[in-house]
Amino acid sequence: MSVIYDRVALIGLGLIASSMFWAMKRAGLAGEVTGFARSAETRKIARDIGLCDRVCDSAAEAVEGADLVVLCVPVGAMESVMRDIAPALKPVATLSDVGSVKRAVIEAITPLLPKDVHFVPAHPLAGTEHSGPKSGFAELFENRWTLIVPPEGCDRTAVERLTKLWQGMGALTDEMEAEHHDLVLAVTSHAPHLIAYTMVGVADDLRRVTDTEVIKYSAAGFRDFTRIAASDPTMWRDVFLNNREATLEILGRFTEELFDLQRAIRAGDGDHLHAYFTRTRAIRRGIIEAGQDTDAPDFGRIKHD
Ligand code: NAP
Repeated sequence: MSVIYDRVALIGLGLIASSMFWAMKRAGLAGEVTGFARSAETRKIARDIGLCDRVCDSAAEAVEGADLVVLCVPVGAMESVMRDIAPALKPVATLSDVGSVKRAVIEAITPLLPKDVHFVPAHPLAGTEHSGPKSGFAELFENRWTLIVPPEGCDRTAVERLTKLWQGMGALTDEMEAEHHDLVLAVTSHAPHLIAYTMVGVADDLRRVTDTEVIKYSAAGFRDFTRIAASDPTMWRDVFLNNREATLEILGRFTEELFDLQRAIRAGDGDHLHAYFTRTRAIRRGIIEAGQDTDAPDFGRIKHD
C-alpha cells in the first residue's frame, strides 16, 4: 500500500494510538509519525520501544507540519489538548480523534478549530481491557468497524483520505451521524460496560460473605464481566459523563426489561423466559455470521489444562 499521509501526529500514546502506529507502519501508510503523551514516563517508554518515529515533549511540537493529527486521549481531555495544539496546526491539515463518544467531542473541538483545518472525527470499534503505550498491536483494527463521523459541511476529500487510512489499517468503515453514533454505542458498548462494572461490584460485596468463592468458582459469564470491568477507569468515566443522555436512555430501558424478567421468574413464567432467551440467542448468531466474533466454545479461549 502507498503512503496516504506524509506526516502523522498521534496525541496520547495508549492502546489506540500505539495500535495505529504499528498498523500504519506495517502497511506503509504514513511517512514520519510523531507522538506526544502527557507524562514523561509514557514518552520514555514510547522512545524505548520505538513507538513513533519521533516522540516530542509538547503536543504543539508534535503536530507541527503534520498532515494528519489524531487525538487519542480520553474524551474528557480532548478540549484541553485541542487548546494546546490549535495554534500549531498546519493549514489544510486533517484533524481527527478516536474518542468513544462523538457529539461531546465535536462540540468541544469545533469552536477551537482553525478555519483552514478539516475536522473528521472517527471511532474504531476495537479495543481490549489493556491500556498504555505497550498495549497496542498492529492487528487490533483488522475486520473491525471504524465509524467515521463527519460533521455537517465536512470536506469530502479529507473524509475519503481518512477512510482510506482506516481501511489500510485493516478496518471496515462506515459513516454515521454523531447523535446516532452515540445512541448505537450506548447500546452496544457503554451500557454493557456499566452493567459489567455493576455485576463485578455486586460480586465483590458478596465476596466479603463467601471469602474467595466468587473468584475460585468464577464461571464464564462472570469472568467475561470481570474482563470488561478491568477497562481503564479514566476512559470509562469520561464516556459516561460525555454520553449521558443516550446511556441513561438505554439504562432506563434495560431496567424495565430487567424488572420484566424478574417478574417472570417470580411468577414462574417459563414460557416468557424461554421466548426471551430464544430471541437473544438469535442476536448472538447474527454477530457470528457477520464475522464479528467466533463461535468457538468459551469465546475461543485457549485452555491451559
Ligand atoms: P490509554 O491507553 O489509556 O491512553 C491514553 C493516552 O492519553 C495516554 O498516553 C495518556 O498519557 C494520554 N492522556 C490522558 N490524559 C491526557 C491529558 N489530559 N492530556 C494529554 N494526554 C493525556 O487510552 P486508549 O484506550 O488508547 O483510549 C484513547 C481514546 O480512544 C479514548 O478517547 C477512548 O475513548 C478511545 N477508544 C478506546 C477504546 C478502547 O477499547 N480502549 C476503543 C475505541 C476508542 P499518559 O500515559 O502520559 O497518562
